[in-house]
Amino acid sequence: MTGNDLESVIESVPDRSDRGHESDTQTALVVSCSMSSCKLRGPLWPVDATWNVVGVQTLGNQTQERYEEKTIVDSNIEHPRQQYDITVVLVVGHTKCEVLEDAYERWVAPDSESPDGIEARLDPLRSIVGDGFEEGVVAESLPLNSLQYRLVEYNVRRQVQFLHQALPSSVTVAGYVYDQDGAYSSFPDKRYLVAFDGATDPTTVRDRLPEDASVRVASLLT
Ligand SMILES: [Zn+2]
Repeated sequence: MTGNDLESVIESVPDRSDRGHESDTQTALVVSCSMSSCKLRGPLWPVDATWNVVGVQTLGNQTQERYEEKTIVDSNIEHPRQQYDITVVLVVGHTKCEVLEDAYERWVAPDSESPDGIEARLDPLRSIVGDGFEEGVVAESLPLNSLQYRLVEYNVRRQVQFLHQALPSSVTVAGYVYDQDGAYSSFPDKRYLVAFDGATDPTTVRDRLPEDASVRVASLLT
């Protein structure tokens, strides 16, 4: 082995190999909603069956929390990031999300009676709902179910946008909506890619995918 060969071997050793993880298995983190009864079924691009998948659940698939007046990456995400070399984070929302429904109701009529823990977790979602109205993503005139579906996608978009900015650029962040209701097509129970790193426009997202990727790309918000 020449010096150059040795160098290239050393370069190809992943950074975290000293922690004893399989060097050729990539790890993805999947953030879904803790109130969701939908189980993850089958891999979501770019993750496939060869990947190691770590699943975490947060209320309303949120990716951030408040700490000392700052918005930081949720500890449920940071903790596994300390343990594994995570190269992909997927945020998965779902159309029947009661947490977002609750956040919307709290935006309409603030509830001063609820426990502080709930307030702390729902307040960021309530302000996302407020932003949605401000940006014209949703309007009071919409039927309640379309309002809910749009808020679900908008929330996924916002969580992906946050992680895309907060995590190193080497980490791919993608957002999916699990369509339990047939909001995106007449066939329910499908999952749609709605955000990919910085992009949310379906045409832009599709352009970034490999040609052979079997991914449903969609948006209710365009
Ligand atoms: Zn939910």
